[in-house]
Parts: sequence; structure tokens; C-alpha cells
Amino acid sequence: MPASLWPPAPRCVDVALDVPLFRTFAYRVPAEMAWPIAAGTRVLVPFRNRTAIGICLGETEPPAGVTLKALRAVVDDTPSLPAPLLHTARWIADWYAAPLGLTVRAMLPAALLQPGAAVPASRTQRLVHLVQELPSLLQREQTFARATQQRAVYELLEAQGGAASLESLRTQAGCSAGVFTAMVKRGLIAVRDESVPRDPFAARAGVAPPPHPSPAQRAAIDAILAGDPGQVFLLHGITGSGKTLVYIEVLREVLRTQGRTAIVLVPEIALTSQTVDRFRGAFGNDVAVLHSGLSDGERFDAWQALRRGERRIAVGARSALFAPLEQVGVVIVDEEHESSYKQSETPRYHAREAAIVRARAEGALVVLGSATPSLESWERADRGQAVRLTLPDRAAGAQLPPVQLVDMRSAVKEALASRAPQAPYDPLLRVFSPVLLAAIESRLTRGEQSLLLLNRRGFAAFVQCHGCGDVQVCPHCSISLTYHRVPESLVCHYCQHHTDVPSSCARCGHATLQRRGLGTQQVEKLVAERFPEARIARMDVDTTSGKWAHTQILDRVGRQEVDILLGTQMIAKGLDFPNVTLVGVVDADTGLNLPDFRASERTFQLLSQVAGRAGRGPKGGEVIVQTRMPQAHAVTHALTHDFVGFVHEELGARRHPAYPPFVHLANVMVSGVHQGATAAAATAAAEWVTQLMRRQGLRDLVLVGPAPCPIDRIKDRWRWHFLLKSSQPRLMTRVARYVAERCPVPADSGLRLVVDRDPVSLL
Ligand code: ADP
Ligand code: ZN
Repeated sequence: MPASLWPPAPRCVDVALDVPLFRTFAYRVPAEMAWPIAAGTRVLVPFRNRTAIGICLGETEPPAGVTLKALRAVVDDTPSLPAPLLHTARWIADWYAAPLGLTVRAMLPAALLQPGAAVPASRTQRLVHLVQELPSLLQREQTFARATQQRAVYELLEAQGGAASLESLRTQAGCSAGVFTAMVKRGLIAVRDESVPRDPFAARAGVAPPPHPSPAQRAAIDAILAGDPGQVFLLHGITGSGKTLVYIEVLREVLRTQGRTAIVLVPEIALTSQTVDRFRGAFGNDVAVLHSGLSDGERFDAWQALRRGERRIAVGARSALFAPLEQVGVVIVDEEHESSYKQSETPRYHAREAAIVRARAEGALVVLGSATPSLESWERADRGQAVRLTLPDRAAGAQLPPVQLVDMRSAVKEALASRAPQAPYDPLLRVFSPVLLAAIESRLTRGEQSLLLLNRRGFAAFVQCHGCGDVQVCPHCSISLTYHRVPESLVCHYCQHHTDVPSSCARCGHATLQRRGLGTQQVEKLVAERFPEARIARMDVDTTSGKWAHTQILDRVGRQEVDILLGTQMIAKGLDFPNVTLVGVVDADTGLNLPDFRASERTFQLLSQVAGRAGRGPKGGEVIVQTRMPQAHAVTHALTHDFVGFVHEELGARRHPAYPPFVHLANVMVSGVHQGATAAAATAAAEWVTQLMRRQGLRDLVLVGPAPCPIDRIKDRWRWHFLLKSSQPRLMTRVARYVAERCPVPADSGLRLVVDRDPVSLL
């Protein structure tokens, strides 16, 4: 017997478990179990008097002198986390200083990690598949001759990627069941009962993409398809340049010719239903739409369909990045600048960065698309780590709309001065310049549509005492309460604290409280009073609490049942309505003065994106921006649609003091219920890191702070933070992990420390 087989080495695996600990767990594998167990496979293990499901990470050396518990069972035949996903999990855990077990949990549907959880059975549906392809016109003429209904069914099916539900096909083609029977007999189609995810998008009609890419689109498509595995492309295409068609053609090639699969990330599904409809129009049932509205059962169904290869394109927000597809050929990140790609709880990953890591592991291409790329991606291209592709013009001959600036400081003064002497006070004049009012009016007369942006919901921003100037603040969070008119109350936008509007000041007893600032509800009221005939829709968090409310509002706009859509930044994302010829920005300044290094970048993106909603059709369009800060570079460059000009100025401002993309940043936040204890813990934590830096001689690491967070209290928790900056990513990884894992915070007063690496907000 060869020496290596005797004595038999104890078989032992390393397992990641869903617990907030920076460690993994070793288990013995009983002799009767199949060996080896592939990494990424789910296993059933005893853990703290219960049975848990974990992910096998691979074989490990049994630790000396410890009796290991035995694995109970192997759950999967094939790994739930294929190698590239496991690789991505390890990278996320490492880079963002998160426990691997929690990272793995974030990647899988909840149902997969609960032992004994009943996964709801899927519904079945009759699906029609195309069996025989008839690519040429001649073949079709010969096959169908006068069977026009059969031909209609065939072409509908083809347009939907070769598979569709029988029911939806029958309604679309308006034909009888006999047509399908005849086609089955002729061997043209097959009809099967299949389990389908209960996907609300399945009921929506897809939208067929434009048939022919323009030369600029073609050049981008060809460049991307010629890329090496793992290569990153930054598709900088102005608003309306037709980035979606580029994605679709790339996907088509990757799916058809290379036989591979694809992932498409969008910022938020309910707000991007138009984009999703286009992917469905091009690829029909090959698309699985993953979104936050899915129930656990639906999510599991979608996951299964992708895993079994029944659907080959995953479209979804952030976590669609973890779709269990194999052979991924391309990962697309649409609107890559959106901050919603960053997860705000552990693991605090950025989907764009994780997408690049997964794509490398898959040998897939990456396309990051935006009209206003993040400075990180722009700089990545400058460094040669991404290939920049440009779509400089709007598709189909449309033009970028002219943008007009209205300086509200003088506009309001003039409007008030020119009133008739006895005219009653009109609050409209403080909010809307005559220019914007005239523009809205002319749209109404012409039957065209307007969008009005105000990035603040509620009625008035806050309520202030006339006498002492006191502002009503949330008792749990350090922010002013927002006045809401329907129902009338003061609401905290962080914790939902509601309170009645006081009739007098709690501090000085003064009787009149003044509403200051401006919210979407007030704008809606003013607009409705001024234009009583107009059909107005408002879109903000308050009107869109239902699962599909956003989509419904947008569909109404699409059907031209709405004359004026007003809303928060929600209305700036990717809408493509040709009849929208006016975009009005009621107040461009709401985000400019936030104490955050990204305030200008955010404002520029928002203004450019919302401006980009105008003039998408043959009627053209215009944009009117009201501001009291006309010199701010975020505003001036948005006026000329000058992304490159903005970036140069903003990049200059990020060098001294250094901010991303010129330095790696981690935000270390300490929170707790007692103000004093929180401040003390944050100070002690910062001191602990300073000592560490001194001991280890870490010269390329800067600590800024500690200080109270700009919003120093949320939901009854006080918040302090300090920043770590380093130009060396590896050093940052090491320190971030060390701080997250070891930095001592007293356990008693509910104190918590979190490390947010590459933060998108410092508020
Ligand atoms: P983006 O995402 O870059 O802002 P979209 O992908 O929404 O732009 O495209 C803008 C509009 O132009 C859409 O209505 C789209 O159907 C149309 N479009 C795009 N490419 C073409 C093309 N090659 N020919 C005709 N229309 C096109
Ligand atoms: Zn609050």
C-alpha cells in the first residue's frame, strides 16, 4: 500500500456560516460521505445546539488537538456558489472588511440558507418554444403561404427570443388554440408546461429595440466585442445617445454566437421599467428580472431558473450581480455613477467594483455605462484600466436641449416689484420664475408634457418660529422635521417619527410658526392652483410606497395621461418619453451645500440627468434651471452639458485635501444611545488607530477626526465618525479589517463600530 494512503488523513472542510464573526469553522467529514466536497456546496452542520446551513469553502488541515464536530449532510449536488462567485465573495469580505459568512448570505436567496425552510412550489405555465428557425424571407413565404396567423405567431415568438407564454401569445396574436396545434403538428413550435417565476414583469409587454445601430453605436459595439476577457469598458454616452441598444447588441452576440450568459445591473428596477421592457423586448423569456419586490419564493424561483440555465440574462439592481449564472460572457452596469450601487449594510460592497471582480473571474467583459460617469470610473480610464468609448450625439438625430438659467435672487425681486400695488401675496412668485411659468403654460397649450424636479419631498422643509427662530427637530434624529400637508403632520425623513403641527412655539410660546423651504407637496399645490386644468402626477417616496407604484405612474406618463410630472430625483433616472419637451428644475441648490465631498458631483449628475429627459423626440425640448448659486461649477457645467469640463474642475478640487479617486477612503462610524459614551468610544477608537499607526510605522495612512457625523443622531442613536485615507489599497485593506475586527468598543451601552470603505456618502 502506498505510504500516502496510510494512515488515512482525517477528512476535514472549512465552512462559512451566517454569523457576524470574522472566522470560518472546520468540520470533520464522516467516512460514508462522498469525497471531495466541491467548494461552494451547501452543507448541513451542527452549530451552537442547532443545525445550520453553511457553505463549504474547501478542504482544510484539521486543527491540532481539537475534536471536530462532524458534518451532518451535503445539501447540493452542484455548488450553490460556483467558483467565480466564491472568489467574488472572498474579495468582498476582504476589501470591505466584512465577515465571509455574512457576505455569502448576501449572495444567496434567504430560502437556501434556512434548514427545513419550505420553499414555495413554483407555478407552472404553458410555454411555447420556437423549434424551427426560418431566417430568410423566402423560407417564411414558402412555409406559411396564406397561413397568416401562423406567421404572426411565429414572428411574435421570434421577437421574444424564441419562447413565450401561450396565453400572452394568444392575446397578442389574437388567434385560436387551433393555430398552435397546427404549428406543433408541423414541427414549427413545441408547447410545454414549465415552472415559471411569479414575475410581475412577465405580464408586461416588452418593447422592441430600434432595428439598426447608428455608426457610433456600431463602433462601440464592435470595440466591446473585440475586448479581451475581463476587460472593462466605460461607455460614456450622453443622455439619449442610445446606450441601451449598445448593451442589447453586445448581449445578442454574447448569447447567440458565444453561447454565454449575461448580467445587467440597473440602479432600481421600479424606476427603470422602460429599460427592463427593452431587454425583455429583445430577449423575451431569456430574461429573469430580479428586484426587491419579489417574495422569498419568487426570488428562489428566479434563482433556480438562472441556475438551471432556463434563463440566461439576469437583469436587476445591485444584488443581481450574484445571479447563479455560469459561463458569464458580459456584465453591464447601467448608470454606473448611481450611489444606490453601494450597499448600506454589511457587507458594504459597491456593485460596480464587485462586478469587475466577478467578470475577471468569469473571463467576461464589463461595460460601465453613463452620461455622467463617476469620477472613480473616469479616473480608471485615465489610468488605462478601462477603455473609454464615447457616444457624443443623441440617437436618431435628436439634439441635446438648450438649458436656460434663472437666477432666483433677482427673478423673485423683479416679480414681487412688478406686482399690482393691491395684489394679494402670491407664494407662487417665490417658487416659480415667470420664465418657467410661461414655459409650462405653453406646453399645456400644445399638449406636450413637462417634468418638474425638486429634490425635497414633503410640503415645506421645516417649521420655524417667527419669534425665537427655533426649528422643530426630530427628537430621535438630529434633523429638522418636514412639514407634510396630507395628512397634516411633521415627519422625520430618517425614522418616520410623526407629530402634530404645534400651534405655538414650544420654546418661547410665540403663536405663529412659519413654514420655510419648499417640498414637492407644496410645489404640487402651487402648480395645481395655477394650472387647474393640468393633469399632475407627483412621484416621491410618499406617493410610491406600493410595490409597483413608480412603474404605474411612469406608465401613465408614457400613455400621455399626465401633463406635468413633478418629483424628487426619482424622475431623473433614465426616462425616455418623446413628448416631454420641458424640464424645469425648481431649485438646483438643494444638494449643493451638504457637508459631503460628493455634493457637487451629485448635483451635477442630477442636473445633467434630469436635463437629459427633455427633447428626446422630434419636437425637441428645453430645460430651465432655477438657482440662487449660478456660479457653482456643478451648475455652470450642467448648463452647457459639459461633463468633461466639470470633471476637470472637480478632479482638481479632490487633490488637496485628497479625496477619492485620488486616495482610498474608509469611514469609521461609532454609534450608541448615550451621547457622551458615543463620543468617548469614537475618541478612544481613533486613539487606538493612531497608536496602531505609530507602532507599525504606517506612514501612508492619515486619520481625520473624530467628529460628530453631519447628521449626528439617527433613530435615537448618536453618531460619530473618523476618516482613514491612504494611497495604498493593500494597506487600507489591512487596516480596515484590523479596525473592524479588533478595535475595542465597550460592549455595555449598545455601542457599535462599522467600517464603510469607499463610502458614497459621509452624512
Ligand atoms: P440613453 O440610455 O443613452 O439615454 P436610450 O437607450 O434610452 O438612451 O435611447 C434613447 C432613444 O433613442 C430611445 O428612444 C431609443 O429607442 C432611440 N434609439 C437608440 N438608438 C437608436 C437607433 N440606432 N435608431 C433609432 N433610434 C434609436
Ligand atoms: Zn427621526
